[in-house]
Amino acid sequence: MKTSKFTMITFLVAVILSISLSACTNKINNLEEYLTKMEAQYEDVAFELGNAYWNYYSAEAETDLKTPKKKFYNILVNDTLNNLVDTWYPMRTEIKDTILRRRVEMWHNVLLSAKVEYDAEIMELRGELEEMMEVSGDKDKTNYDFEEKILLLIKLRNAKSVELGFDNYAHLTYETNGIGYEWFLNFVDQMDKLTQESYQKLVNQIKSENKLDEFGQRNAYMFIGQFYGNQDATELKIENNIELVQTSLNNIGIDYATLPAKLVETQLPEGIGGQGLMINIPNDFRSVMTLGMDISVWMHEMGHGLHGLFNSINSAILEGYEWVPGNANPCFAEGMAETSAYFTRNMEWQKKYTNLTEEQIIEKTELTNKYAPAFIRFHLFNFMKETELYLHPEKSYEEIQKDLAKKYLMIETEEMRTRNLDDIIYVTYPLYLQNYLIADMVAIQAHKALFDKFGEDYAFNKEVGTYLINNFYYAGEYFSWEDRMIQGTGKPLDIEAYLEHYKIQ
Ligand SMILES: [Zn+2]
Repeated sequence: MKTSKFTMITFLVAVILSISLSACTNKINNLEEYLTKMEAQYEDVAFELGNAYWNYYSAEAETDLKTPKKKFYNILVNDTLNNLVDTWYPMRTEIKDTILRRRVEMWHNVLLSAKVEYDAEIMELRGELEEMMEVSGDKDKTNYDFEEKILLLIKLRNAKSVELGFDNYAHLTYETNGIGYEWFLNFVDQMDKLTQESYQKLVNQIKSENKLDEFGQRNAYMFIGQFYGNQDATELKIENNIELVQTSLNNIGIDYATLPAKLVETQLPEGIGGQGLMINIPNDFRSVMTLGMDISVWMHEMGHGLHGLFNSINSAILEGYEWVPGNANPCFAEGMAETSAYFTRNMEWQKKYTNLTEEQIIEKTELTNKYAPAFIRFHLFNFMKETELYLHPEKSYEEIQKDLAKKYLMIETEEMRTRNLDDIIYVTYPLYLQNYLIADMVAIQAHKALFDKFGEDYAFNKEVGTYLINNFYYAGEYFSWEDRMIQGTGKPLDIEAYLEHYKIQ
């Protein structure tokens, strides 16, 4: 009898378990169904906003940014969606389907950052600033105090972030964009320490050569000029940029003609360089560029295109649209764009497509290496002066600039020209600038991996495109950016190897 009692109990336990399990499965099915529905709406609005931005940049048609932004707002403040994600996020480890789990994580990041950027008051102020800053706009700006308004925007973003449990807006941003706040602070510190000595050497050298008492701002800017002046390919044999982009892609086995991509070169209004837009991932990439842009800029934008066009994840939230902060890892996205740009900095590529001799190319590379510490420290200066606005709201922008110029650029003179606080990027792409430094690192590491795998002619190897697709592009935001780095290069971002590349010891 004992056995039968035991069997009975086991049976009952099994029934209860299977009921609760199937309840759980049901809940998960509902979750999946609901997210799929919301992602379809989210993607429709993403197309609409992408199109509106295309018109904004290309001037192909009248543009309306407000309507799609309002639609995004309605999705992002939806209570059912917020409650569902708030419920599932803390217990996401119970979701066995790892794609669904990642979708919940991504929605969590998107909704959290939207609580700041799509807050009614913040959105309105941001919209007002964007309108006032529009290059071709006809607003009367004479009595508009940009500095006061941007400081207010920063204050509102910080206050909202504190309300949500973060130290400040920078803390919230780095926790939602996939980079991580701790990682970022540590990264800045390390980059600073590891480039101090080599940069100091450059400073000492120019001071003794020019018999300067003090190292000034102009000297620092000359260093950066030297870096940029030597980094890119010059004396190109193919003058048509679009043709050269297509040729460079074909060399690595990517047939441009079959891609749903459109490149346009046209004269844009003063102040607008151009823009590449992933309007529909993975089906519609467009890029417009003003006349006279460098081939590396074209390849950079095309790199954003490749990253989106070869994305084959079947979930809108994991495709990583750029319209809501937190939806795509920005340093990896810029890294993919730069990985494409770096083909034009490759030795074999330059031998084929420029009139430079090998000696000239080597000489340019050596100069780039020489001034690389200045390039790195200039980036630190540049993005930290924005970051500090959020970290030290008690300091004035002028004070911040002066302090950081001393720290990172090692400027010794007291008189220094500072900039006004009226930069559109602080409004539209807050805390984005560090991505360009990390992108340089991602690209160099990716190219080192290609060199090791395919040899020195890798820029002409038809398998390289497939390698990029299968290791970097295909899964969208499903993997963390560190995992994508490991897949493609064998390790996470490697600071030491980066400095070695520029011969910085
Ligand atoms: Zn970019």
